[in-house]
Amino acid sequence: MLLNNQGIFRIRKTGYLSVYPLVPLITEGYFLQVRKRRIYGPVVYWQDFYQTLRAIKVLLFFLRANNNLYENVSGNKIKFTYYDIYQPMDINIKELNDSDTNILVAPPSVLLVLARAIDEGLLNLSLDKVVSVAEVLETEDAVRFKKVFSVDVIHQAYQCTEGFLGFTCEHGTIHINEDMVKIEEETIDENRFIPLVTDFTRRSQPIVRYRLNDVLVKRPTPCPCGSHFLAIDKIEGREDDVFVFKKIEGGGEVKIFPDIVRRCIIYVEGITNYQVIQNESLDIEVKLEYGRGVSRTDVQDKVREEFDKVAKRLDFVIPQIGFGIYEHTTDVKLKRVKKL
Ligand SMILES: [Zn+2]
Repeated sequence: MLLNNQGIFRIRKTGYLSVYPLVPLITEGYFLQVRKRRIYGPVVYWQDFYQTLRAIKVLLFFLRANNNLYENVSGNKIKFTYYDIYQPMDINIKELNDSDTNILVAPPSVLLVLARAIDEGLLNLSLDKVVSVAEVLETEDAVRFKKVFSVDVIHQAYQCTEGFLGFTCEHGTIHINEDMVKIEEETIDENRFIPLVTDFTRRSQPIVRYRLNDVLVKRPTPCPCGSHFLAIDKIEGREDDVFVFKKIEGGGEVKIFPDIVRRCIIYVEGITNYQVIQNESLDIEVKLEYGRGVSRTDVQDKVREEFDKVAKRLDFVIPQIGFGIYEHTTDVKLKRVKKL
């Protein structure tokens, strides 16, 4: 078992994890990742080791099927509960109301549904921590979640098939786990880059200088937590979701990052949820959920104006913009800005 300077514990399973004597003592953290290893068996990473010995209940929302290991590590001090996101959310909400969950781990699309249930008085939760996983967490969603779930920070686990790459500190900054992985930067602009990952912990299927498809935004100033691990302001999305427009002068194309697209929406008042999709003909579809009593025409005109401003500033041909209705779903990964 090791402790690094971010407080991450690693337990190497030898086949006795469920009865491993240390497990009940370290169950003040929560489960983050299980990896199957041919030689050593699964490895469990624990984050945020609490000094107290009070019982912690954990709720897990996963996109895929349950994993027996979550149940194996349940004990007196910790309980992992798997909720199937494919079953109707009103059933999940009812079960949640009856539970005493205090750490919630879920993708933003699920957090949005739960936040709405709280707003409507259908759900009551008293949470110590909220961890966002599996989808890009947009800044405005994080602000809303903090308020609705009454927490100071929405934590994020940055993990994928290629490894457990990062986690947030108490200041909400994502730090790359540089004791486990090396990240080289393929520079896009001053702050944005695409990571090339080398994983030091793998014994089989090496990951060496593996180029991920993510666009990361570096934090320009050191994080107040004092960690020297690379600080990330935001996981902006997949490189594939960068919008492309036709340049006005001299042909060619202009690339627009999801953050800029997002700003065309969030600066307009009266929108409660949105998704922006660019199709293959480079047209844009804006799916909106409107606030009560808001004029849809006014909102749509303002969204068009915002796109016009960006197009003028960055010198690209104004795209065709169509409008649709935003629909809540947890069946597919939520992408606020998506390129087909
Ligand atoms: Zn920090």
